[in-house]
Amino acid sequence: MKRGFLKSEKAFSKNEPPKNRTDVANQSKNSVNTVQIVPTPTVPALHGGDGKLTADYHDDQWLLSTQPRYPPGATLVKYPDGWSECFITGHAQRKIINTPGFPEPLPRPNPSCFRISDSPGKGLGMFAARDIKMGDLIIAERALLILPRAFTPPDRVPAHFTEEQTKRASAKAYEQYLEGVVQRLPLESQVAFKQLRCSRNQDDGSGPIYNTVMTNLFMIYDYFEPSYGKPGIPEGYGCYGRVFKTLSRINHSCRPNAQQDWDSPSFSLQIRASRDIMKDEEIFITYIPRIMDPAPARQEQLEPYRFRCDCQACSNPIVSDERCRRIEKVGLLRRTIQINRNDMRWVHEQLIDPSLECLTLIEEEGLQNEELYRGLLSRLADSYSLLGDTAEETKWTRMYDVVRQAQYNARNPLNEAARIREEAVQRSNKENLAKIGAIKGQSFTVTL
Ligand SMILES: [Zn+2]
Repeated sequence: MKRGFLKSEKAFSKNEPPKNRTDVANQSKNSVNTVQIVPTPTVPALHGGDGKLTADYHDDQWLLSTQPRYPPGATLVKYPDGWSECFITGHAQRKIINTPGFPEPLPRPNPSCFRISDSPGKGLGMFAARDIKMGDLIIAERALLILPRAFTPPDRVPAHFTEEQTKRASAKAYEQYLEGVVQRLPLESQVAFKQLRCSRNQDDGSGPIYNTVMTNLFMIYDYFEPSYGKPGIPEGYGCYGRVFKTLSRINHSCRPNAQQDWDSPSFSLQIRASRDIMKDEEIFITYIPRIMDPAPARQEQLEPYRFRCDCQACSNPIVSDERCRRIEKVGLLRRTIQINRNDMRWVHEQLIDPSLECLTLIEEEGLQNEELYRGLLSRLADSYSLLGDTAEETKWTRMYDVVRQAQYNARNPLNEAARIREEAVQRSNKENLAKIGAIKGQSFTVTL
């Protein structure tokens, strides 16, 4: 099923021809099927290329690229971390292989902690094979395929074609490209790809490979093209999606117990427990961005996935929606605080009590993967620090660290940007709290 969403944009490098080509030279040494330029602009199919390894590509050139490189003769048995067949531009290619540390080996939980088996009404699903602690890694996997989320093949379409005919011709041509990418996979991965579920069947000219890809797509938050999100660029262009053999089996819940995060150096998507998971419990992630929306709005977000969610929140929307409203009201992290230096009860009344209430509501509702949860833990640690209660401060700081591990352990530019933002907020809060300690006087207000 299609999962993930675009969190935000990030900085792009300039769209220029390569100046330093050592990246490609390194890739080409002792590697197999590494880079093949997709000739433009009139290519009927991928195999029209000469297949030569080359360093001579530009940022906007489309490439077929196997990442990371693997030794000649490698099989998935000998090299279980695997590799991804990528249909990407030179810009994305450089971004991938210039990641510091790339390609690191995949981390593996020991012993393995999941199994794939039948999930009633949902086909296959992922289940916990043992108890899993909040923050623990469940699986890290490299994608089978990395592909543009939307792509217009450069093949010329007859000028008299209508918009609809052009769309259909493009869809047909893209299917040919995809066929070429899938054929580069090892045979067992081709079989695994064909076994993935396909719930998309639109009459828009798209073929079975595209439909399977779109049913199982995870959006990728790295490697945006410089064109992404620019005026005049249609939605979906300039970004990539990934298809996985195992991760594509994880089902959706609006109250997920696991989180996904891309880890650039190991070139893998990592799934971590966002709360404690008991043995035999099904492991869920969310496919939608705003899981605290009321039930009808969530169902609307799920529309492209063509199923009705039956998670605990969707099964009991009146209770769940009301709880979410309360969480949003009580859980405000920035609020104006009335301070009285002579009577520190305000710390409990205005900071600790609402945070604890909100924390309980979040746990009852199963929303521990929300950033608010982490923010409240940080607020509690700060509040107890203000009261000089070191034991409570340590307790909440430890819990914050575990949640942070679950939510932002992977290494990628988006997480790095989020970390910097979060540290700035924490610094500002601490400075404000320090001021409170230094101010002589009775009553005043401050925003925390
Ligand atoms: Zn739901």
